[in-house]
Amino acid sequence: MLENQLLKIAQDFGSPVYVYDAEKIESQYKRLTNAFKNVKHLKLNYAVKALSNISILKLFNSLGSGIDTVSIQEVQLGLAAGFLPEQIIFTPNGVSLNEIEEAAKLGVKINIDNLSILEQFGTKHPKTPVCIRINPHVMAGGNANISVGHIDSKFGISIHQIPHILRIVENTKMTINGIHMHTGSDILDIEVFLYASEILFETAKQFKNLDFIDFGSGFKVPYKQGDIETNIEELGEKLSKKFNDFCKEYGKDLTLAFEPGKFLVSESGSFLTKVNAIKQTTSTVFAQVDSGFNHLIRPMLYGSHHDIVNISNPQGRERFYTVVGYICETDTFGNNRRINEINENDVLCFKNAGAYCFSMASNYNSRFRPAEVLWYNNKAHLIRKRETFDDIINNQIEVDFTTKKAKELVK
Ligand SMILES: *Cc1c(COP(=O)(O)O)cnc(C)c1O
Repeated sequence: MLENQLLKIAQDFGSPVYVYDAEKIESQYKRLTNAFKNVKHLKLNYAVKALSNISILKLFNSLGSGIDTVSIQEVQLGLAAGFLPEQIIFTPNGVSLNEIEEAAKLGVKINIDNLSILEQFGTKHPKTPVCIRINPHVMAGGNANISVGHIDSKFGISIHQIPHILRIVENTKMTINGIHMHTGSDILDIEVFLYASEILFETAKQFKNLDFIDFGSGFKVPYKQGDIETNIEELGEKLSKKFNDFCKEYGKDLTLAFEPGKFLVSESGSFLTKVNAIKQTTSTVFAQVDSGFNHLIRPMLYGSHHDIVNISNPQGRERFYTVVGYICETDTFGNNRRINEINENDVLCFKNAGAYCFSMASNYNSRFRPAEVLWYNNKAHLIRKRETFDDIINNQIEVDFTTKKAKELVK
């Protein structure tokens, strides 16, 4: 999208506002599909939690994608967006047996990542096939918060517990239709990922009724210049070959599944904010925008970098700024950034704001969550209204402190 198109959206829809470029989502989807064109059955299940607006889900539905969901509410959202139950996989962590049964009743694919739940579910519903989430104990990225395959992770059933899984399957007569892993959020090294895939293939051989193998996600996209990015084409070529060889050995053309979130939507997103004030201290020039970690928490939560661009003054002289929010806490978006000269009321654009940005937004400081706009067919479509005061007060219940009893309590 062009900067003047973004600026126009900030003018028309107000700020702060999230903008998503449908064309970028489509091209990422096609790029991934194309990288695995040598696999007979490929299924991409978009990870809803990255960006869960119903119009985004409908866009994925129109592309032929399935979805990966982590809560019963995401399952319901997917159904509301028009996905068929069989296009939805439920991959929760630490949810109740009850919630898994609810999802199973809706007919969606079930992925279980806990031996206790597997045994209970298999005992009660031996006729419902399930996929199992394996922890291959492979470190994908460097950051312990986003590497979920290592030994102390809460995710998945340890590779060392396969004998116990087999025991449960034998005792309950349940069917395992898929093997799944999701090692972490950033695949920095393809060889590491391929190594994990070998472990998964070895595991898969022990289950005779598989329909699919799900390699999760972890595709890294560049957040700033010079960032390492997963080489999708190389991964596609190498993993496809391994997968096709495995299918031959297994004696069946299985489906190769992925569940990317960030790869598909991160770069499509721009978050537009307006500069409320410029504040100069003895060492720093702060640009204070009309937002905070209530709208975009990744920089504060994970130390994530989002490029920040002044789209109101793209030709301006570059200066150093620290961009902060309006929340009554430290909410630094970017420290000591080189940005085209900023004036009050300028619109700053945060890049890579498609994944885990709006979906992590809150009402902290009793602020409204932003509007969302989808840029599709060269036109801006409002896909979520900015909240209003009603949204803040709606579920709150006032106690009447004027009654006699309440007055006595106060005394
Ligand atoms: C979050 C999540 C994903 C998506 O991860 P990305 O890094 O956004 O691609 C995929 N699968 C599962 C099970 C997840 O929890």
